[in-house]
Amino acid sequence: MAARYLQNEHHIFRDAFRKFLEKEAYPFYNDWERNGIIPRSFWMKMGENGFLCPWVSEKYGGFETDFGYSVVINEELERVGASMIGISLHSDIVVPYLHAYGTEEQKQKWLPKCISGETITAIAMTEPGAGSDLAGVKTSAVKKGDHYIVNGEKTFITNGIHADLVVVVCKTNLKEKHKGISLLAIEKDTPGFSRGRKLDKVGLHAQDTAELIFEDAIVPAENLIGVEGKGFYYLMQQLQQERLIVAISAQVAAETMLKLTLKYVKEREAFGRTISKFQHVQFRLAEMATEIEIGRTFLDDLIEQHMAGKDVVTKVSMAKWWLTDMAKKVAAECMHLHGGYGYMEEYEIARRYRDTPVSAIYAGTNEIMKTIIVKNLGL
Ligand SMILES: Cc1cc2nc3c(=O)[nH]c(=O)nc-3n(C[C@H](O)[C@H](O)[C@H](O)COP(=O)(O)OP(=O)(O)OC[C@H]3O[C@@H](n4cnc5c(N)ncnc54)[C@H](O)[C@@H]3O)c2cc1C
Repeated sequence: MAARYLQNEHHIFRDAFRKFLEKEAYPFYNDWERNGIIPRSFWMKMGENGFLCPWVSEKYGGFETDFGYSVVINEELERVGASMIGISLHSDIVVPYLHAYGTEEQKQKWLPKCISGETITAIAMTEPGAGSDLAGVKTSAVKKGDHYIVNGEKTFITNGIHADLVVVVCKTNLKEKHKGISLLAIEKDTPGFSRGRKLDKVGLHAQDTAELIFEDAIVPAENLIGVEGKGFYYLMQQLQQERLIVAISAQVAAETMLKLTLKYVKEREAFGRTISKFQHVQFRLAEMATEIEIGRTFLDDLIEQHMAGKDVVTKVSMAKWWLTDMAKKVAAECMHLHGGYGYMEEYEIARRYRDTPVSAIYAGTNEIMKTIIVKNLGL
C-alpha cells in the first residue's frame, strides 16, 4: 500500500523521475563507480529537469514542493545505487541551511545555482580528530576586518571534490565548546582553500568523498550563515532531516537487496531444485521480509510526522540506528544467499554489501543515536 503522504502527483512525478534515471543514470552507473565520481553533466541534467532542491521557494527558482517529493527523489536515487547519496545531501541536507538561515543576499546569490546544478554543495563537520564529538572541532575562523581567516582540516566530506560551496563548521570562539561554533559558507575559489586527497573507500565508489584544507583561507564576513556562535544550534535543528534521509536510503537499500535475492533464489538450482524450495532459505527470507515491512511502516509514519512539522528527534534517531542496522544485516544475509556469486562484482548484491555498512557510521554513528534516545528517556 502506498504511503499516506504520497498523492497522485507524487506517483506521476516518481514515474517521470524513474524514466529520467533509466535514461541518464542506470546505464552509466557502473562507469561512474569505476571512475570514482558522478559527472557534473549528470548534476546539470538533474537541475535542468527540476530534480535538484525542488522544495526551495519559487522566488529563487524552486517549486516549493513538499517533502514527499524529496522522499521520492531519494528513494529513486538509492535504487540506482548508494553513491547517489551526495545528490540527496546537496538537495535535502546542505541547501536547507542556506535557505533557513541565509540572508536575502546569500539566498539570491547561491540558491538559483544550487537548483540548476551549477553549484554543488557539501557540509564539512568532521575533522581528522573530531567526528562524533562535534563540539570538539578545531577549525578556527578569526575575524579580521571584513573577513574571517580560516585554518583547519576537514575529512570524509561527501561531494568534497565537486563542491563549489561548502558549509564549514568552525569555531569563531575557541574558548567555548558548543557556543563557539559558527557556520561559514566557503566558495571554491577562496584563497587558502584547497582539496586534499579523494579518499579511497570500501564502498560508495562513485561518491567523491574528500579532505578539505584551509590554510589562512580568506573568507568574506558576509559568508557567515546566520549568527555567530549559533552553528551548533542550527546543526541540531537540521540533523533531524539528515538522519531521516539516511534512514530512507537504508530502507530502500534493504528492499532492493531483498528483491534481488528473491529473484536469485528462484533461479539458482542445487540438489535438483531451486534454492528457494529449501525451508532454511525460505525462513531467512521470511524473517528479512518481516523486518523490512516493520521498517517501512515505522519510516512512513515518521516521514508523515516530519512533514507535519513535528519534533521527531528521538524517533528519527531510533529509525536511523534501527534501519541502518537492519539494512546491514540484510546485506550480509542476501550476499550469503547468493553463494559464491554474491561475492562477485558482476552481481549487484556485492556492491550493495560494500555500500550499506557506512549508513550506520555517517550522519552520527548508531551509538550517538542511542545516546540521543537515552537522553530523551530522561536517563
Ligand atoms: C563515506 C563517508 C561520508 C561522510 N560524509 C561526511 C560529510 O559529508 N560531512 C561530514 O562532516 N562528515 C562526513 N562523514 C563523517 C562521519 O559523519 C563520521 O565518520 C562519523 O560521525 C563518526 O566520526 P568518526 O569517524 O570521527 O568516528 P569516532 O567519533 O572516532 O567514533 C569511533 C567509534 O567510537 C564510537 N563512539 C564515539 N563516541 C561515542 C560515545 N559517546 N558513546 C559510544 N560510542 C562512541 C563511534 O560510534 C564509533 O563506533 C562521512 C563519513 C564517511 C565514512
